[in-house]
Amino acid sequence: MPKRQTPIWQYPSAAERTFMTRRMARMRAFLVRLRRSPEFQSGTNAAAVERTFLQLVASVTEASAADAFLTSASVIRFNQREGRKLAATLKRDLRLPGTELAELRLAWLSTTANDFSALLRSVRDETETAVAVGKVTTVTQALELRMKLFVSRAASQATDQITTLNGRLTRTLQGAMGVERFIWRTRGDAKVRLSHAANDGQTFSWAQPPILTGYPGEEFNCRCWPEPIGD
Ligand SMILES: [Zn+2]
Repeated sequence: MPKRQTPIWQYPSAAERTFMTRRMARMRAFLVRLRRSPEFQSGTNAAAVERTFLQLVASVTEASAADAFLTSASVIRFNQREGRKLAATLKRDLRLPGTELAELRLAWLSTTANDFSALLRSVRDETETAVAVGKVTTVTQALELRMKLFVSRAASQATDQITTLNGRLTRTLQGAMGVERFIWRTRGDAKVRLSHAANDGQTFSWAQPPILTGYPGEEFNCRCWPEPIGD
């Protein structure tokens, strides 16, 4: 089966995806700087490295920073452009009540910030446990371990947060357009869950999602999407 393209009416090319990408890029750049710093290289000034690490995390988790980014002029223009593309493709008016969209975005922002803080706590705890049981021998090793865990999990979390948001937004948009039923679509590659592959091509009602899987795009890292069925 040929690999399917993501439909262009799908949401994830909007500002939130850009925000997550920039957040990851900022974090990686910061980690490179931290790793090159004399404190880190010497592996002795644990307190200084720890402080810098925590500053990094604060700078990428702060909800107000995310909010400022999402409401900046360039992002608003970006959203408008994406919105027009979406509308042209569907040839329908997809304008949602502003409050509904704002609520979705607000919920997403707070979940994103909370997930990120929880991730930091778990990575910190795991590193401390590793140090306590003698699995790592130096401060540098302990910090390297923490960074590696943090970056790889943050990246997978970012992807999941975007697909979940996309799933919810698509559901809201289709609901607002009066779409009652959809065809479950998958990417058609080897990474698709078996239970989702079983739904591929089947018609479901928005009022009654498939019991086993829930709505497309909402399970962890799910890349499936609902193709709307018109009248
Ligand atoms: Zn899926």
